Amino acid sequence: MLQTLNKYFGYDSFLPLQEEIIRDVLEGKDVLVLMPTGGGKSLTFQLPSLLMDGLTVVVSPLIALMKDQVDSVSANGISAEFINSSLKYSEIDETKNRLRKGKIQILYVAPERLMMPDFLKFLNSLKISLFAIDEAHCISEWGHDFRPEYRQLKSLKENFPAVPIIALTATATGKVQGDIVAQLNVPKAKRYKASFLRKNLQIKIESKEKVYFQLLNFLDEHKKDSGIIYCQSRRQVDKLASDLRQDGYLALPYHAGLATDERIKNQEHFIKDDVDIIVATIAFGMGIDKPNVRYVIHYDLPKNIEGYYQEIGRAGRDGLKSDCILFFNYGDKAKHEHFIRQKEDSQEREIAHLKLKEMVDYCLGSVCRHKVLLQYFGEDFDAPNCGACDICLEPKETFDGTVAAQKVLSTVYRVNGGFGINYIIDILMGSKNKRILDRGHDKLTTYGIGTEYSRSGWQAVARELISLGYLDLDGDQYPVLKLKAKSKLVLAGKAEVVLAKPKIEIASSKTKKQGKIAVANVDNELFEILRTLRKELADKEGLPPYVIFHDTTLKEMASSYPRTSEALQKISGIGEAKLLKYGEVFLNKIDEYCSIKGVGALKYNGASPQETLKLYKKRLSLEEMAKIRSVAVGTIVSHLEKLILLGEDIDINRFVSPKDQKEIKKAIIKVGHEKLKPIKDELKEKFSYEQIRLVRALYL
Ligand code: ADP
Ligand code: ZN
Repeated sequence: MLQTLNKYFGYDSFLPLQEEIIRDVLEGKDVLVLMPTGGGKSLTFQLPSLLMDGLTVVVSPLIALMKDQVDSVSANGISAEFINSSLKYSEIDETKNRLRKGKIQILYVAPERLMMPDFLKFLNSLKISLFAIDEAHCISEWGHDFRPEYRQLKSLKENFPAVPIIALTATATGKVQGDIVAQLNVPKAKRYKASFLRKNLQIKIESKEKVYFQLLNFLDEHKKDSGIIYCQSRRQVDKLASDLRQDGYLALPYHAGLATDERIKNQEHFIKDDVDIIVATIAFGMGIDKPNVRYVIHYDLPKNIEGYYQEIGRAGRDGLKSDCILFFNYGDKAKHEHFIRQKEDSQEREIAHLKLKEMVDYCLGSVCRHKVLLQYFGEDFDAPNCGACDICLEPKETFDGTVAAQKVLSTVYRVNGGFGINYIIDILMGSKNKRILDRGHDKLTTYGIGTEYSRSGWQAVARELISLGYLDLDGDQYPVLKLKAKSKLVLAGKAEVVLAKPKIEIASSKTKKQGKIAVANVDNELFEILRTLRKELADKEGLPPYVIFHDTTLKEMASSYPRTSEALQKISGIGEAKLLKYGEVFLNKIDEYCSIKGVGALKYNGASPQETLKLYKKRLSLEEMAKIRSVAVGTIVSHLEKLILLGEDIDINRFVSPKDQKEIKKAIIKVGHEKLKPIKDELKEKFSYEQIRLVRALYL
């Protein structure tokens, strides 16, 4: 298993639970895999597909993304295809032919296609070794993304009783789990649940004030990063995307109101790193495997915690640090409530209200964000400080807020709990508002006694009192403040209240962000160069860049400066297929960079130039030597350079003609020998770096 892992995927070890799951699959057991996004689910069916004799059929809900998935798998040297309605009849026929001949290891299909009687018959004529049901929560009405087509999978087990099923999802509530197992008819499926903790996600809730500026503030520090910004309405999406473009950001909209081809096009641009930002309604993101999404921003309040968790989960699949920011205010809550009230079904309304309340409590709460999310999915989390959320990282200063609390609570008491936050604050601040005068609330003893804070200060106090459980914000028509049992003691002067000091500063994003790179000492200049190279190659092949290499892989290259195939292969995420296909181009680029910059030059092992010397003596060309040693030509040249400098008698006439040598030498004398680039420029790009280096070594 490890060998296959390394050969095809370029990884040295398994992520948690992968090995156990794969063992079960290989033994023919049904399994249910519950892992957060980025947990490494795909590998648990892709690797078995390589070790089992027969076809692995992957059921996936999104036709639009199948091509990307197949491209990703194929790039690792696994033969994969998809069949869906986007293909021509002749293409489907061709794939079917290859399936009959056993030439394909993984086939992606949508559930409605899989369950067509003809297609089932066709599959029955093949040897099937495994069914993988991706995004398996789509089968459950309790999930946030129910798809009726998934219900058809009910009879899959009947049709193929001997073929094991692996169901995978990142939604882990008990109800959904039960539903999946029941619907797929795999009662004995072994359940594997990985921790849903996503420590690389830096979660933050900010008070939504001048939200566009808060956003710009953040984006300003994340200029080249990929990110998703979620808004509640299509109109808002269009407006924000266009505003951002006017402000110089590469942003495109995505929502169900756009024409299908525009939607697909925008998504492609994002996946392929042509644009940095997608502004989207929640319709965007499922099944998108883009690993380098560096931030997810909720411009508006999400409807419920499940959806929110899924959405932030799209950040940082590659395990690198990523930001998740939610901008919260009460106005958004009221908007949601307005929509909920329009639902016909009273039970649906009830559930929606409840879920919204959970979401709001989460935002206002002062408990570690990761802890709350994990608890929501039934997982304990006891670390005193997660190190990755605003609550843990920016503990608020507190003060004795007993008097302030008493003022608010007694005002609420005196108006009989029938008014909202702003009305209460109006009373405290002695507002001459007509509503107040008409009701005679200017006669209350608390009228005008709240001069110590500004309006936003009082708002913060009220919010705190809600989150601490002294007040409830509730009501059908509009939110009103109500006292809770706990507040009696405070009113009676028998309990003290500790409040957090309100943050005057709006944007905590002003705090310097921490480096988000897990790989040590990344050479950013080289990283950018490699990124550009990756993008060029990707565009040439019509692939998303991450299919070639992930950011993590490029960063490792830009920190360890690999100069040989062996060194390159040691880097995580480079299997045999990718080494063969891209190894040389990347090595050449790194080599060129290192020689221009004079970095990494001392990284050769001592024997290496000596090996090259042996080949040199056989009178081989530079290219031949490079091929035999499976290193870049640049590496061979640097070996020769070293040999020359060590006093070996190397005849460079074999590689650069004497006439050319003269010309290069002249340029070196003119501009100096320290840097190669000026020499190359002086020679008007007529000669390669390799040629210049050899001449320079000889004349130094
Ligand atoms: P999921 O489908 O659970 O969201 P993926 O299958 O997309 O997760 O994997 C998440 C990331 O982890 C991908 O970038 C993948 O290449 C990487 N990955 C998977 N398995 C391993 C492993 N054993 N070692 C290192 N990285 C891995
Ligand atoms: Zn925390």
